[in-house]
Amino acid sequence: MEHREIVVVGAGPSGATAAIALRQQGHDVLLIDRQPFPRDKPCGDGIPVGVTEILYDLGLKERFDKANFYPIDKVHLVSPAGYVYENALKEGKQGAKGHVISRRQFDALLQEAAVQAGVEFCLGKVKEPILEDGQVRGVRVMADHHLHEIRAALVLAADGATSVIGRALQPARVPDKHRAIALRAYSEEIAVRPHQVEFYLHQEILPGYAWIFPMAENKVNIGCGMRLDKFLQQPYTLEQLLAIFLGLPFMRERVRGDGRLQDPATWQLTCGSYKQLQRAYDGALLLGDAGWLIDPLTGGGIENGMMSALLAAQVAHQALQQGDCSRRTLQVYDRACRAALWPVMRRSYWIQRWVLRFPWLLDGLIKYARNHPHIAHVFLAKF
Ligand SMILES: Cc1cc2nc3c(=O)[nH]c(=O)nc-3n(C[C@H](O)[C@H](O)[C@H](O)COP(=O)(O)OP(=O)(O)OC[C@H]3O[C@@H](n4cnc5c(N)ncnc54)[C@H](O)[C@@H]3O)c2cc1C
Repeated sequence: MEHREIVVVGAGPSGATAAIALRQQGHDVLLIDRQPFPRDKPCGDGIPVGVTEILYDLGLKERFDKANFYPIDKVHLVSPAGYVYENALKEGKQGAKGHVISRRQFDALLQEAAVQAGVEFCLGKVKEPILEDGQVRGVRVMADHHLHEIRAALVLAADGATSVIGRALQPARVPDKHRAIALRAYSEEIAVRPHQVEFYLHQEILPGYAWIFPMAENKVNIGCGMRLDKFLQQPYTLEQLLAIFLGLPFMRERVRGDGRLQDPATWQLTCGSYKQLQRAYDGALLLGDAGWLIDPLTGGGIENGMMSALLAAQVAHQALQQGDCSRRTLQVYDRACRAALWPVMRRSYWIQRWVLRFPWLLDGLIKYARNHPHIAHVFLAKF
């Protein structure tokens, strides 16, 4: 049995960010992931400008800029009836830009930065939280073919959409209307619009969309995703929906050769539209996808995950200084997440529900946005 101050489960963007922020405040942090890095994570690989700003604030500007990732400076949004909105994306603080970066590279950069900051990384699969009288006291981890008990004053669960900690603490199933499912693939046989992210709100895929995000001058990340309840009510698989999209006349013109797709992968999205969700427990906090923080309209979750990580690190630091990691102290995290993330999430969910009833609203909205660019910010809030 081992004793640690803080255990962070999951070294994706949320877990690695929390680990770095806590280490920078002098804490002892053990970061556990079931996969060695670099590793893939099914994603559109769209890294919004807000994420770059967070990395800069964490002191990772030099490391990030040196990696020379593929920057994005324009957005192309197409409504169901084919109305197009196109605009330049604004730069953030210190010239920060949005990027498209394979998660293999992006997550490895963060995980490596955490280790270099003094965080200890452990390769192991967390099986369950150690629960005593309703209080989380640590985790049970399978590592090196053995089950280890690691006790900690605080556990931060950043183990993604299938979080074992989250499921143990809140076993009730969240309704499917707050979940989504998405398929991503790569292609070197689709003509690239350089430095431009493309969103297609195609009739067949609502509520959801297809995307094409460029990763280089000759490679794109392409995919589609839908709200889970609506996906289950229609006849197609995600592969078929993507094929329908690729078969549209304007897409056929862009496909070279046989349009081969590489590395297709499907994963689920845990959306932040479920307001009742509790994210602070006795001895534990839920971060990022484990805390259901994906924007229900755009499917973007990296920025919200990293924002939740910074909030969790602040709350954890104070709780550890007070020597009290009970829900009573930690629930300030629930309030902080709500204040920082709920207003945009609520707006996204509201638009999503109206669009579902009246899909033509999207055409009107996108037509209107052409003369009122700030409206497009609603859709692109996290890009
Ligand atoms: C197809 C698709 C496209 C998307 N596109 C975008 C996009 O373009 N932009 C965007 O911002 N968001 C996008 N998202 C959402 C985004 O991928 C997530 O919001 C983001 O990955 C959340 O980060 P996280 O660190 O919370 O969780 P994750 O990135 O899922 O990381 C969780 C980590 O926990 C580890 N783990 C899981 N279980 C255990 C366990 N039991 N023990 C130990 N370790 C464990 C995993 O190995 C993983 O490393 C997309 C999602 C999907 C599915």
